[in-house]
Amino acid sequence: MRRHLLILLALGAAAFFVVWQSQEIILAYYLLSAIWLLPLYYFFREKVYGLLAVSAAGIFLLHGWFFRIDPHPRMIVLWAVQALLFAGFCYYHWELKRFQDRAQESKENIRKSLESFQAKYQTRLNSLRHLETQVSSLMNLFEIARDFSECMDFNTLAEFLLKKLRSELAFEKMQIFLMPRAGQAKEPAIIKIYSMLPEGVQEEERVLTDLEREDFNAMIYAKTMVRREERWYFPIMDGNEIGSVFAIHGIKEEDLARVEVLSAYLVLLIKKIKLYETVRELAIVDELTQVFVRQHFLERLEEELRRSIRFKLPLTVLMLDIDHFKRYNDDFGHLVGDATLKEVSDLLKRNLRRVDIVGRYGGEEFIVAMPETRVDNAAEVAERIRSSIARHDFQVYNVRTKVTVSQGITVFDGEIAAQSEPVDAKAVASELIRKADESMYRAKEEGRNRVCLHKDIKRS
Ligand code: GH3
Ligand code: MG
Ligand code: MG
Repeated sequence: MRRHLLILLALGAAAFFVVWQSQEIILAYYLLSAIWLLPLYYFFREKVYGLLAVSAAGIFLLHGWFFRIDPHPRMIVLWAVQALLFAGFCYYHWELKRFQDRAQESKENIRKSLESFQAKYQTRLNSLRHLETQVSSLMNLFEIARDFSECMDFNTLAEFLLKKLRSELAFEKMQIFLMPRAGQAKEPAIIKIYSMLPEGVQEEERVLTDLEREDFNAMIYAKTMVRREERWYFPIMDGNEIGSVFAIHGIKEEDLARVEVLSAYLVLLIKKIKLYETVRELAIVDELTQVFVRQHFLERLEEELRRSIRFKLPLTVLMLDIDHFKRYNDDFGHLVGDATLKEVSDLLKRNLRRVDIVGRYGGEEFIVAMPETRVDNAAEVAERIRSSIARHDFQVYNVRTKVTVSQGITVFDGEIAAQSEPVDAKAVASELIRKADESMYRAKEEGRNRVCLHKDIKRS
């Protein structure tokens, strides 16, 4: 606008000069006729070509009218100058517009690239934040894992895992499967399973379900971690066999990395606990017969006696010895003797309850403590043991033989003992064993393959 005013001022000055010098009123009019075009220019501001056309037409019409009155050649020159002036001005405006458009375009491009840069930065920032939370939760896991190392048995580990991980990780359940040790496997294999469920730890011994068996087969094939739908299995190898398995069900995809870290640690820990348990078991369980060794049996017997005294419960002790086993060994060899000993022990256990405590007292002597068992019941159990061994065909290394056993029984009456406090459990245990042994020798004397009650026992 300021520029236009300057142009008009210049035109006005030129017209004044012409009038002052030559008194040419018409010439001055022509100079000032551009004033008419200004409103038109502002009206067609954005339509540059339209403005050009209208300017040209307006000037042509106006001047045409004056040419009829006074067609002076100077006027044609002035008209041309005026038209050129406007054409130049319009061109300038057109160029300015183009420049503005280009500037707008590059501004838009810069804005777009800024936006994309900002988006990239935001993504980086988000992934950094995600990494930060991952690292902090991994640190938490490591802290928890450090505490795990204090667990020395599976029950404590399962309780601990459930307690600590419940708030740290979303899962449906976790499981630890413990396969039977090589040489102890029966068909179908009974597997010890610790299940960590939201409601608590569940301990069970059972065969695998069909689904579990399918999953385990995949693991046997892969010999490494396998994923079956929402179930993850981490095998812990024992040589070429799967010794135990850590399983976790229903975890979220984003927790997978953490689960892998956790399981790597658990795999080592489970291996360690299994080793501990094996060592512990080897120290208390007789390798050949898989019953308690004498020392551990005595500890368990004393423990059970203290319970019998406190709750005034009866407890029966049974001593069992294989008849003429020396001769048996001489006839068939020690290897057959060993296998027979193992089979006798299996038959013995098969006729007892889970709560009964069995020990290997000597070479081919077994001792049994039956809690909460009176003499009548005990005599029935002993008779059942005797007949099942006597009827059994021992088939070892192509040798088919028969074996009999002699048994002695004595009973501890918790009720009477409770009246004469204090009771020394160790002394009572020794006394009971002595009496059971005595009765067993009586059974030998009376012809073997029989059960003898201690002479003190008065049957009701
Ligand atoms: P009985 O008891 O009927 O009086 O006669 P026995 O021949 O069985 O006599 P005793 O109980 O004294 O014999 C123990 C024998 O048992 C001696 C040994 O040859 C055998 N024996 C002990 N421990 C083992 C073992 O671990 N393996 C084998 N094969 N034999 C054993
Ligand atoms: Mg014997
Ligand atoms: Mg003996």
